[in-house]
Amino acid sequence: MASETKSEMKSKVSDLRERYERLQALHSVTVALNTTLDPREVVNLVLREAVRVTRADSGSVVLLNPDTGRLDVDASFGLDPKIMQVKLRLGEGVTGWVAEHGRPLRVGDVTHERRYVAVREGVRSELAVPLEFEGQVQGVLNVDSDRLDAFGVADEELLVALAAQAARVLHNAWLIRQLRQRAAQLETLITIGQDILLPLTLEEVLRHIVREARRLMRARLCSALLLTPDREELELKASDGAGEDYVRRPNLKVDDCLVGVVVRRKRPLAVRNVQESDQYQHTELARREGLVSLLSVPLVSGDEAIGVLSVYTAEPHRFSNDEILLLTALAGLGSVAVRKAQLYEKVVDVEEQLRQNEQLSALGLLAAEIAHEIRNPLTIVKMLFHSLDLRFDGGDPRTKDSRIIEEKMDQMNRILDQVLTFARRSEPELKPADVNALFDDVLLLVRHKLAQQNIALQWRPAPDLPRALLDRTQIEQAALNLILNAVQAMPRGGTLTITTEPRDAGVCVVITDTGVGMTAEVRQRLFDGFLTTKRTGTGLGLAVVRKIIDAHHGRIEVESAPGKGTTFRVFLPA
Ligand code: ADP
Ligand code: MG
Repeated sequence: MASETKSEMKSKVSDLRERYERLQALHSVTVALNTTLDPREVVNLVLREAVRVTRADSGSVVLLNPDTGRLDVDASFGLDPKIMQVKLRLGEGVTGWVAEHGRPLRVGDVTHERRYVAVREGVRSELAVPLEFEGQVQGVLNVDSDRLDAFGVADEELLVALAAQAARVLHNAWLIRQLRQRAAQLETLITIGQDILLPLTLEEVLRHIVREARRLMRARLCSALLLTPDREELELKASDGAGEDYVRRPNLKVDDCLVGVVVRRKRPLAVRNVQESDQYQHTELARREGLVSLLSVPLVSGDEAIGVLSVYTAEPHRFSNDEILLLTALAGLGSVAVRKAQLYEKVVDVEEQLRQNEQLSALGLLAAEIAHEIRNPLTIVKMLFHSLDLRFDGGDPRTKDSRIIEEKMDQMNRILDQVLTFARRSEPELKPADVNALFDDVLLLVRHKLAQQNIALQWRPAPDLPRALLDRTQIEQAALNLILNAVQAMPRGGTLTITTEPRDAGVCVVITDTGVGMTAEVRQRLFDGFLTTKRTGTGLGLAVVRKIIDAHHGRIEVESAPGKGTTFRVFLPA
């Protein structure tokens, strides 16, 4: 020890000081790294510190791109900005070698290194270490120097330690970004799910879905195609990010287009590059619109495919399972929207059906009345005919005639019996029922129509309503009649108020509209039948309502004046 010279001591101290400074640098980077969750910031910070502590002249960080399998330059220091466009293959250059082998590489003189690829003139030596977490290489940290042999073992150790810290933080930052993305995806799925419940049209819902799908998948274009009714073609229903050519493209034939497979097999399909696929029909269009990778999933209703939802990226992209699941979930919501729109179309038919029902019911009532009126005189005719007690001689042809008269009278009687039995079958089948639940169902049918016509609904069911004795089908028909009359009385919107309340051992339903109202003249003949003030009315609705309520031993009252709206009160015994 004593033999140590002063200069040796000095160099030891300076060595120690240098090590101390480096550890200090490593420590401060580690602290700084742990305060950020932004991958970009992590990369920049690490590179800056790496260049500083190794006294390098330039440096870069490259990251492995899972989509392309290439190494993309993610950050650079002291290099031409064009370097950012460089994409290395694994194994290419010193950097590529480090990424491939997951080991550091120190090059004292780049002119003697076969693997070296020049990125800047003047570089003499280089040090590259892998960014690695849990055995997975994420990228490479590089520093270069203009001096020969600029980096020593200590630099390598330091950089390896720095890279290990950075890799761990990067991994976490990516994980968190992924989680945030998932949260955003879930949120979107939930809002779209809620939107589907709103009275939006099919087109509106699909437009919303393609917009969100494009945003969530960071896609260039997203489109929804539905099968035409003959199931032979796919028609574009909504798109986001599409150019005019794409929008104007003719329908696709299911049997000879690429996404037709998605419909036929009801399975997702991913194509790495549609511009290079010989099965993709519109490669020219894809090139013009910059469409590269395609992911297409089926829209399914029940067991049947009804269309496809597709996203295209602007860069080559390998779709992960998560992305396929996400698009499938969005397609699921799209399918629900389609189904809902189809059901609404049916609901709109309700009015037409009701009109036919009105006519049929009225005709039935008429037929029963006529049958009844004929049966009485016929019974008398038959009686009188028998009392005539007609008898003729053996060969007299009138014997046959009188037998035919008798037969025909029996036949008429049978027909009348049939008509009357049929009419009796439309007598109500009374069962105790929940009037509130019945109105819930009826209102479900007209909800879309009310929204369409700007009519606010105030539905106030009484909480403790006794059950009423009623024939559900008939009362439903009567309720629909009254509600649709109210709707027709409010062509420019208004409020429809429906209340139920218990009343004298029964149930009272009050239906009030803020519509055109009616004159005293109309009000007096309201239930007579064939009275209508509408162009397409039958004038039978209220006549049928009256018959139904009468058959239930109920009452119906009306209160109305022109311009003042109308209130109908229906009383049904419990
Ligand atoms: P339709 O609806 O086919 O005209 P209805 O028997 O249902 O036949 O109604 C007869 C007439 O009564 C209607 O044409 C209309 O003039 C009048 N009316 C019925 N309900 C209302 C109402 N809520 N507000 C105003 N007028 C009504
Ligand atoms: Mg009517």
